[in-house]
Amino acid sequence: MNKKCCTTENMDDDHFHDECGVFGIFGHPDASAFTALGLHALQHRGQEAAGVVSYDGKHFHSHRAMGPVGDNFNSEDVISRLVGPMAIGHVRYSTSGQTVLRNVQPMFADLVFGGFAIAHNGNLTNARALRRNLVEEGCIFQSTSDSETFLHLVATSDFRKVMDRLIDALKQVDGAYSLLALTREKLIGARDPLGVRPLVLGRSGDAWVLASETCALDIIGAEFVRDVEPGEIVVISEKHGLQSFKPFPQVPPRFCIFEHIYFARPDSVMGGLNVYDVRKKIGQELARESHVDVDMIVPVPDSGVPAAIGYSEQSGVPFELGIIRNHYVGRTFIEPSDTIRHLGVRLKHNANAAHIKGKRILLVDDSIVRGTTSMKIVEMVRNAGAAEVHMRISSPPTTHPCFYGIDTPNKEKLMAHRFTVEQMAKEIGVDSLAFISQDGLYRAVGETGRNGECPQYCDACFTGEYPIALVDNDGSSAPEQLSLLSEG
Ligand code: AMP
Repeated sequence: MNKKCCTTENMDDDHFHDECGVFGIFGHPDASAFTALGLHALQHRGQEAAGVVSYDGKHFHSHRAMGPVGDNFNSEDVISRLVGPMAIGHVRYSTSGQTVLRNVQPMFADLVFGGFAIAHNGNLTNARALRRNLVEEGCIFQSTSDSETFLHLVATSDFRKVMDRLIDALKQVDGAYSLLALTREKLIGARDPLGVRPLVLGRSGDAWVLASETCALDIIGAEFVRDVEPGEIVVISEKHGLQSFKPFPQVPPRFCIFEHIYFARPDSVMGGLNVYDVRKKIGQELARESHVDVDMIVPVPDSGVPAAIGYSEQSGVPFELGIIRNHYVGRTFIEPSDTIRHLGVRLKHNANAAHIKGKRILLVDDSIVRGTTSMKIVEMVRNAGAAEVHMRISSPPTTHPCFYGIDTPNKEKLMAHRFTVEQMAKEIGVDSLAFISQDGLYRAVGETGRNGECPQYCDACFTGEYPIALVDNDGSSAPEQLSLLSEG
């Protein structure tokens, strides 16, 4: 039994938590072991909890636990209980509020057609409205996660066949989803019509693989086949092999540009672009746009490294590891309170004083959210004796929360919402501060610039232009602020 199972204290968890990674495999004797490995490669997408559901032809098996994959799927004992040639898995992330096992995915229910498991990456923007209707119809929700909505919509659909039920459910949801489902016969993968969150298809021998990122294919030696397309549903079964359905009207895709900036692993390929290359190109663009005379380019590790390399290459200024990261501390962002977050930054980074003293330093980081990290880093670099400290950010200012699956705080907590760039520079304590421009960012992903009428990516966190209706929210607060249980 998991040590953090529901206590009365954490039963109060009533927030959405939605940064996640998914992995599924069909037709492999080591399906659950491969799923655990795939989830391990996707660990950066969620460290809070992990789960795997497998099917052996007769029974479904499930193991879900709080904490990292390596802590929970490391024994023969666990893996050998997850029997069967097909499995799906999920890693989950949250930055605030408490978490409970009942919210951990994959979620599973015994429906009229048999067992049905789902693993969801993304965030539904009308989950609250749908949930209200479903509860009125008599559905009993077991979790506070928006992902459970899929289960009930499939369960209550008037259609008979699983696929028709799923399509019926998907047509009712608004928001972002890369969804995996496992039935007695099928592994199903679906991407929302705008393709906001990633999902790739791979092949390992005769087995088919679905995963959030290509790095999860690499770890099991699977070959990348292609991206699941926006609005596409792929179905893998013994009987029909791989099938593709496109039940939605086609719309221009809007992949999340923040996956390229920060969220995805740099060794992954997304939409045909190597994430590391994109990050280096953003750094090059930054150097072209806002260079200042300095002695050294220093990345804020690890997220600022590729952009800093690109910046250094473009400007000709040496790249140095002026800040060293302690790899045994999780992402600072994960800590819920400001006090801990402050402490976390000091635990995580240390200035490499011998190389910084007396130098004009240009720090490169991927984003400024609350500003806490930047303030601490700048203070640290100044205390180490830097002559000047400048900062360049490889994203435009984060002015709006994300409602599609990247965890961002309330608008009011976003530094770029509260302050102008000049004011931010003052608050952070740098000699100069600049962000990549919208067009510079789009150039780094191979476009000629941002197409104002119809942007090629979802960049709502930088522009406030939300491509999917925010049914549950007016856009002023982040999804984590929505209390489902207080709905009454
Ligand atoms: P902050 O201290 O709030 O300004 O945090 C900024 C740092 O958090 C950035 O440098 C990123 O490395 C990281 N970060 C940005 N967005 C996210 C996110 N959605 N989830 C986790 N970490 C993030």
